[in-house]
Amino acid sequence: MKRSMQWGLAALLACALSTALAGKLPVVASFSMVADMTRQVGGDRVDVTALVGADQDAHVFQPAPADVRRLSQARVFVVNGLGLEGWLGRLTGSAGFKGVTIVASRGVTSLKASGGDEAGGLDPHAWQDPQRVLRYIATIRDGLIAADPDGRAGYTARAAAFSARVAALDRWAAAAFAAVPPERRKVLTSHDAFAYLGARYQIRFLAPQGVSTDAEASARKVAELVRQIRRERVKAVYFENMSDQRVLRQIANEAGVAVNDKLYSDALSDARGPAATWEAMFRYNVSTLLKALK
Ligand SMILES: [Zn+2]
Repeated sequence: MKRSMQWGLAALLACALSTALAGKLPVVASFSMVADMTRQVGGDRVDVTALVGADQDAHVFQPAPADVRRLSQARVFVVNGLGLEGWLGRLTGSAGFKGVTIVASRGVTSLKASGGDEAGGLDPHAWQDPQRVLRYIATIRDGLIAADPDGRAGYTARAAAFSARVAALDRWAAAAFAAVPPERRKVLTSHDAFAYLGARYQIRFLAPQGVSTDAEASARKVAELVRQIRRERVKAVYFENMSDQRVLRQIANEAGVAVNDKLYSDALSDARGPAATWEAMFRYNVSTLLKALK
């Protein structure tokens, strides 16, 4: 094919694409978890882009000029809040964003960060508890309605259907974890991302890193965990899809336990993976945990 013809085709495609997207509400989401929730509630009225994509770490993200451009063209910006996106202020400033910002975690009961450097701060990982996710869904619905009142009926119906599915997943997980003896519900992961899941189903999560991935685990913390894992016979050891595995593997080796598999903590998988949506992520994590805990 001639080069000029290829260019012509590309231009035609780009044109068709922008026509298809025309009329859709342009939405930017900070990371994949809230991006998926917004797609579930927004349906085909919204065009959602995630700044921090599949398998990427939202704690240490650095916005690029393309992200600034994307946000400057958006009408809605959906973020988690609770201190997850430390890079937010710089980004919205340079993008001159004047649309509707939805802080998806607004109104959830937050947990304090455990130990380490973040002590006294908040734990941002509230998306791991389905009951808190119900609050996220309601907040996203209200934000979308504020930005696009004509879509109210659709946003309301899709939020209700999504909430019903999340509540069903919560009931399923609660029944499944209840069948595991409480003293066996102990899990080791890389960073402290599952306290909300743990609080919901009475599972004790241990981690060498605190609620953020931006600080290294201390040698003392690592040694403590090795002893604890031996003493309490913790068998459920998981790395996370978006964080460094080295410290976790070192602890597992020293404690003489196997690393089971991975959990999706702060990012979804890509479309081909087992956790491409929040629902798939939750189902996958719970099933994976149950295999090791039972
Ligand atoms: Zn995290």
